[in-house]
Amino acid sequence: MNFWARTSPGEAAFEYQGAASWEVRRPADGEPVVRHQIRCPACSDELTFTVYSVAATEHRRERWRWGVWVGGALVVLGLVGLASGRFGLAIAGGSAAVAGVLAGVFAWTGGLAEAGVTGHGNGLPGVLPKHAVFLDPPSP
Ligand SMILES: [Zn+2]
Repeated sequence: MNFWARTSPGEAAFEYQGAASWEVRRPADGEPVVRHQIRCPACSDELTFTVYSVAATEHRRERWRWGVWVGGALVVLGLVGLASGRFGLAIAGGSAAVAGVLAGVFAWTGGLAEAGVTGHGNGLPGVLPKHAVFLDPPSP
């Protein structure tokens, strides 16, 4: 999380100059989340991250998996609509299939990125946050 940033209109680039490590205790299963506050040594921003227990992290991964299944169901329904031969259903089916693919990919990448630590863009699929958090070891 030690970086400096160059920005120009419409884009931002971050160059990492090293990594600071913080030891954060995950809450035990059944305990509420832990909010961990740190100050970025590079930009002095006060950052609060939410840390989930191992069981809560697995629950969050389960929700992402459900998102993949819902996306898959949308694709199947969309293909049925496309195959119906009726113009209105084909348009709706095609739209549902595209939405299903997008939702499925979003949920799948979200599940892969789910580490039980959120905040400042961490854990969001397709986002490389300015203050990225990397776990060591990588996942619970
Ligand atoms: Zn910073």
